Amino acid sequence: MLTDFNKAIFLDRDGTINVEKNYLYKVSDYEFLPGVIDALRIAQDAEYKLIIITNQSGIAKGYYTLAEFNYLNDWMLDSLETQGIHINKVYYCPHHPDAKIPEFRVDCDCRKPKLGLYNKAIEEFHLDLNECYAIGDKIRDCSICATTNCHGFLIAQNEKKEIINDVKNGQYRNVKYATNLKQAILMIMDRKSKNIQSSIHSMNENYN
Ligand SMILES: [Zn+2]
Repeated sequence: MLTDFNKAIFLDRDGTINVEKNYLYKVSDYEFLPGVIDALRIAQDAEYKLIIITNQSGIAKGYYTLAEFNYLNDWMLDSLETQGIHINKVYYCPHHPDAKIPEFRVDCDCRKPKLGLYNKAIEEFHLDLNECYAIGDKIRDCSICATTNCHGFLIAQNEKKEIINDVKNGQYRNVKYATNLKQAILMIMDRKSKNIQSSIHSMNENYN
């Protein structure tokens, strides 16, 4: 029986790791957001698997090819490796139900908010969702939090104001708001240390 479960951070890409530019595919347009390298290093040092889950409907719509997506993806992963960050895997959905390209015109089960890519990652990395977090700039990036024990963070200002406010008011199960990726990662670390402190505290209480 397997008992070696792993923990992971599920990361959206555009608007979370890099600046949102609609249908980004050129290396020259790619910009890491401030604090992202620090944030990923903190999570990696805390032994979280780093898993990117990204909707890439620009492939289905013919704005860029799968080869162009792969080229940018390889460049991004190399760039992160040179800065000491290892992304364990990138899962992407190239589909869209109204796609121009017939091959990708699919009402698939992998385009977020659907959970197909998360389920692949959970199986492939043997993840314990109690120890996982989903982070993104759209509420669909946190859809896994609605039906599982995974917690999540909506970050930045790219989502609709009403949704950001609802998240801040606790209307979305297991989802909190953070201003950016680094703040979200620091909140995860803080939560972990509080959990450790409270378990030490309750151990002490047991000795009184
Ligand atoms: Zn898909």
